[in-house]
Amino acid sequence: MALPDKSKRCILMILDGIGDRSYKELDYQTPLEAAHTPVLDRLAARGANGLYHPAQSGRALTGENAHFSMFGYDPSEFPGRGALEALGLGIAIRPEDVAVMARFAHTEEKDNSLILQKSAVSFLKQETEGFIQAIESYETDEVKFRFHQIEGLTGILLMSGHVSPYITDTDPITAGHFLSELKPWQAYARDPAALNTVKALKKYLLWAYARLKEQPVNALLTQRAGQIKLVPFFRERYGLCGISIASGNIYRGICTYIGMDFRAMPDSNHPGKDIAERLVMARQLLDTYDFIHVHTKAPDMAAHAKDPIAKKNVIEALDAGIGEAIAPILDDPEVLVIITADHSTPSSGPLIHSGEPVPLTFCGKGVRRDSVNKFDEISAAGGALGGVRGKELIYLILNNLNRAKLCGLMDTPIDQAYWPGDYEPFRLK
Ligand SMILES: [Zn+2]
Repeated sequence: MALPDKSKRCILMILDGIGDRSYKELDYQTPLEAAHTPVLDRLAARGANGLYHPAQSGRALTGENAHFSMFGYDPSEFPGRGALEALGLGIAIRPEDVAVMARFAHTEEKDNSLILQKSAVSFLKQETEGFIQAIESYETDEVKFRFHQIEGLTGILLMSGHVSPYITDTDPITAGHFLSELKPWQAYARDPAALNTVKALKKYLLWAYARLKEQPVNALLTQRAGQIKLVPFFRERYGLCGISIASGNIYRGICTYIGMDFRAMPDSNHPGKDIAERLVMARQLLDTYDFIHVHTKAPDMAAHAKDPIAKKNVIEALDAGIGEAIAPILDDPEVLVIITADHSTPSSGPLIHSGEPVPLTFCGKGVRRDSVNKFDEISAAGGALGGVRGKELIYLILNNLNRAKLCGLMDTPIDQAYWPGDYEPFRLK
């Protein structure tokens, strides 16, 4: 596909979950503040900085919700994690199907309910296959169930028939808590499809529990049901040819949903090496794409281990990796580099993700330079970008790529955000 303006392109680097809180063991700094990050600091020093939140400050987002907003889509267009994972797996999910995240877990019975137990045990491939085979397919009340593995003990449950995605989760996420009862969403309390889904899924989960009873993982837990919708592709909405370089199946799913290309890169135990390889690949792809998403989940994973010092170390490794690969990208005056995160992930406390905004740096030709010279949550607050929210990120990207449309112009029948639009030439006859 021909690019409207080949000269300017961008790399959006997402350091997943890098934002955090302050900890005594880090002298009351965040892991990012405490980390020695000369490369990220240099990038901050030569660009404009601010604090970004993909929704509203204080709201704790999942990676998929945050990315959906960063790529310029509305929450109303979001299909749910289950559906995105299904697309990532290449499953031919139809708009009438429902997909829900499902994972095996060990639970214990108490007071006529189940309590989620800690599950640090890993199983052999053969054992996992045995668990899956036991519960793989089922049918009841006009609903067909099929479990598809994503990796290890995690997968999606595809439901087809008389189904609705408006049902609650059974997975309490945190060990020590009761599994929650399945219910329709309040607004769908009388909806026949939602009621039928609750009835059928409950039967399936009880059947799975009976089938797994003697196993070390004895229950299947569900969350985040979803259904695909028809949304305009990213190229159509923002005029950019996009690709994502990432490791997770979820990113492949998001790309499939919004018509972006995807390049899978496996995670090793060396986050610095991984990010360097992804940036080298991004540079090669700059001839073909004008929007390249480069993702690392390493800071998020480190934070989920609830160890601020481990997270600081991962951030330092990433900084060194970025330093190995960023110089030729920065040497190209037509490339805009944006560095931010999807959300904050606290390295301590009960929250999975938290609602603090994350640092944001724009770096490239013509970008205003502010006085910030450190890439962290506190320094960024004094930057020229100020607070950036939601879809403002994609508007800022279009603006810095010289593709922002002057509001009010209508070069095509759609009031798109980018310029020039894919307009038809004025015909003489
Ligand atoms: Zn996370």
